[in-house]
Amino acid sequence: MALHEYECPACGGAMEFNPKTQKIKCPFCDSEFDVKDYVANHNSDSAGEAADDYMTNPAAGEEDNSQPMYIYRCGSCSGEILATESLGSMKCPFCSNNVVVKEKFTGRFTPDYIIPFTKTREDAIEAYKGYVKSKKLLPKVFFDQNHIDEIKGIYVPFWLFNATQNYRGSFDATKVRTWSDSNYNYTETSYFDVVRVGSERFERVPVDGSKEMPDDLMESLEPFDQSKMVPFNMGYLAGFLANKYNVEASENRDRAINRMHSSTVSDFRNTITGYSSLRAREEQCTTSDESNKYALYPVYILNTSWNGNNYLFAMNGQSGKFVGNLPFSLSRALAYYFPIAGAIAAIAFVLFSLFA
Ligand SMILES: [Zn+2]
Ligand SMILES: [Zn+2]
Repeated sequence: MALHEYECPACGGAMEFNPKTQKIKCPFCDSEFDVKDYVANHNSDSAGEAADDYMTNPAAGEEDNSQPMYIYRCGSCSGEILATESLGSMKCPFCSNNVVVKEKFTGRFTPDYIIPFTKTREDAIEAYKGYVKSKKLLPKVFFDQNHIDEIKGIYVPFWLFNATQNYRGSFDATKVRTWSDSNYNYTETSYFDVVRVGSERFERVPVDGSKEMPDDLMESLEPFDQSKMVPFNMGYLAGFLANKYNVEASENRDRAINRMHSSTVSDFRNTITGYSSLRAREEQCTTSDESNKYALYPVYILNTSWNGNNYLFAMNGQSGKFVGNLPFSLSRALAYYFPIAGAIAAIAFVLFSLFA
């Protein structure tokens, strides 16, 4: 496997994609290039060489859910870089060289599009700090600077589905009117046959194509502004992690179509208003004109394991929207509430003494 490196043409340093300027920049001599120009002019394909593919063996009796691991040899320091099968862009842990395994983003793995990072790692760290600060009862490990430094920018593979949903629904509806005079109460019920027929076109409904990423977490990071999506270029990966897809489009298709279905059904139902009652007689939604594309989306991630559970903080690398599930620590809760409880008890005691 060929490794692709991002050597600075001026000083030989490892170049990185800069989310602020949207250019590829050398942190050592500040040389800056347009992503397109750089990759076209300074492609250093042969600089690295992958070592033999290497697979980890699960311990006896243990189920192996892990991916096979690969070892690559860094082209600039010869150090060994260990990576999962799907990881295609990473940093050499010894010399901080940024490398991309070309095979992970070429051939059938070539992304059609990429949304480049626009938020920096510093933005993500700041968002994380603000978030944990607002949660006083978190275990200490979540505040450790060493731990916070583990926040990583990663391009996550997404399948984007296009399809038309053709809706047809018929309903029995009623309108009820009541009034009274001095002798009687009146109720008038009118019956209606309500029909809705139409179609809705969906473009680029994203579903994440990575086994490692929880689907619901990725959905909660939406929306991504797809108008800022650009044709894929490896230059955007420099300095970031990136996974190739390991869930096929066909496996993700139903999840996307179901999302389209439910939003079509609710859109059409929302046009039926003003009735006292509504009952669906027949309702169907069929799919046509389907196609899909493959794209990489920018996400910052911080993974924490605590008390045997995994906790995830994630931020949309384009909009800055973040989500997380963080635990509640009983010992910190007690430490936090006890002094207050103690103070209240003391005040109560003083008051009691005063009035006794
Ligand atoms: Zn340089
Ligand atoms: Zn290296």
